[in-house]
Amino acid sequence: MAQSFEAARSIILQSVSVLPSEPVALPDLVGRVIAEEILAPWDMPRWNNSAMDGFAVRAEDCVANRPLTVEGYIPAGGNAVGLTVKPGVAVKIMTGAPAPTGCDAIVPVEDTAEKDGRLVITTRVRPGDHLRIRGEDVRQDELVIDAGTVLRPAEINMLAAFGYRTVGVFRRAKVAILSTGDELVEPGEEIGPAQIYNSNDYSIAAAVRELGGEPLLLGIAGDDHESLAGKINAGLEADALITTAGVSMGDRDLVCDVLQSLGVERRFWKVDIKPGRPTAFGLKNGKPVFSLPGNPVSSMITFDQFVRPALLKMMGHQRVIMPSVRAVMQETVTKKPGRVQFLRVRVVDDGQQLRASSSGDQNTGILRTLLRANGIAFLPAELEQVTAGEEVDVQLIAPVDKL
Ligand code: AMP
Ligand code: MG
Repeated sequence: MAQSFEAARSIILQSVSVLPSEPVALPDLVGRVIAEEILAPWDMPRWNNSAMDGFAVRAEDCVANRPLTVEGYIPAGGNAVGLTVKPGVAVKIMTGAPAPTGCDAIVPVEDTAEKDGRLVITTRVRPGDHLRIRGEDVRQDELVIDAGTVLRPAEINMLAAFGYRTVGVFRRAKVAILSTGDELVEPGEEIGPAQIYNSNDYSIAAAVRELGGEPLLLGIAGDDHESLAGKINAGLEADALITTAGVSMGDRDLVCDVLQSLGVERRFWKVDIKPGRPTAFGLKNGKPVFSLPGNPVSSMITFDQFVRPALLKMMGHQRVIMPSVRAVMQETVTKKPGRVQFLRVRVVDDGQQLRASSSGDQNTGILRTLLRANGIAFLPAELEQVTAGEEVDVQLIAPVDKL
């Protein structure tokens, strides 16, 4: 029996679990999900310091027509030990250098002038100006990065600033990818009549890599038990296995049979969606096996809808479903009720709202329509038609154009 789209996706998400964590060094952390909580080991900044190149002063001394005497110099990396800003005195200081005792403000060099060997202040100075205070950024023991956070450049800066060289992050999923079909040959090889190039391996591998996984290409299995079993067995060594094609009703569609014979426990076969109906999902020793339809458009759309959230969850992500925006459909689209339809659309922003139009022929054999699309509109199963002017949910797969 075919599953509803929602049921199929929740079966998948309930079946997969987060992979173990591993230590990873700073240069390789971007996009990884941290597996530990980071508490500030000390106050940040660690000491009061200057936010500008200039002079450390007492704000009350900075009155018109009363030049200051400059005594002492603290460069970045220098220290202020033993230096005190006494009344009528300014200490030259560089950005980031520790503030000497006695000062309560920094005057930037551009707000000063020199007159007869003394320092003239040309601006109003208030206590606290251009001083960075110990702990004003982060307090010792404060939670700065929660477990489950996706590490962006800003988090990586914070980790490095606290001296971490490696942190524990969830492992990247190793994802085996297998194409099936007697008609397939590898790109670059000579192609015979009635043969086509295996293109699915490369789109699926690209999609796996794009979300942070490690694709392992198993190549092509023919439409026979032996060839399929050999490759599928190898694929079951990975954290997840994706096969494409051979899951429909054709008499050479053997993928489901072979998976079953190898002990992959089937959780569903067929989903009420278009494109992508013959999608199947199973588990072997807790590892997910996704059997996607062979049609390139169907395999990419079912990857996005089913495989992507599962891999993201395995790699520790908490938000695994692609967000959607609302867009106004520009034409009337009719559909068969009972199946969710994923419509390839072109979304533009007219300054007031987003507008979606079909990006071309929606036949699953038309790959070009997916290249033209920057969004996938979700048309709920029960709908029979979307009338021009109605809003639909669209997952954006590329930036929106401005009208
Ligand atoms: P199937 O599900 O095996 O009937 O395949 C459906 C369609 O997808 C057929 O037209 C296949 O030739 C095509 N197809 C299957 N595998 C691939 C692949 N790896 N790359 C490109 N097209 C494929
Ligand atoms: Mg086939």
